[in-house]
Amino acid sequence: VPTIGVLALQGDVREHLAALKASGANPVQVRRPEELDDVAGLVIPGGESTTISKLAVIFGLMDRLRERVSQGMPAYGSCAGMIMLADKILDPRSGQETIGGIDMIVRRNAFGRQNESFEAALDMPAVPGGPVEGVFIRAPWVESTGAATETLASYDGHPVAVRQRHLLATAFHPELTGDQRVHALFTEMVRSAH
Ligand code: GLN
Repeated sequence: VPTIGVLALQGDVREHLAALKASGANPVQVRRPEELDDVAGLVIPGGESTTISKLAVIFGLMDRLRERVSQGMPAYGSCAGMIMLADKILDPRSGQETIGGIDMIVRRNAFGRQNESFEAALDMPAVPGGPVEGVFIRAPWVESTGAATETLASYDGHPVAVRQRHLLATAFHPELTGDQRVHALFTEMVRSAH
């Protein structure tokens, strides 16, 4: 059973802990740099990416996060977590940094006012068993991706689930639906990472 951390600075940490547990992992909260050493993979929750970014710097986690991700630690980010794994934000707030790792540019709050929050059934063949219910809450979309990035699901012509080797990101929140298949996909990525 792989030990998978959830970055617990801000956001929907509890929901990710529950989804990871249900997908067969041993989830733990990560708040301090040392705690990163004990996990085989890391989930970055949904929430507010500017806040998560600033707290990661204040808590002294940012460098260690970048180091572990660039050394191959599997990571999965939902929504704000997707933004944290992007190499570039189109419209960053001042002082907003990312961990990076996925060769993509994301646009924050991309779906606009009328579509601030919505649900959509997504075709996501990497997840067996039929469409995935995507819960989007002030979600980003992926503006562009590099050659190494694989699009796993799109909505309205924009990638909303991407994978690059050991890194996975979704613009939506599978942790809010009770469907553990996306977390199971990530747990499997952690299991198969050397
Ligand atoms: N809009 C938020 C951000 O920019 C993300 C929202 C979410 O995680 N539900 O960080």
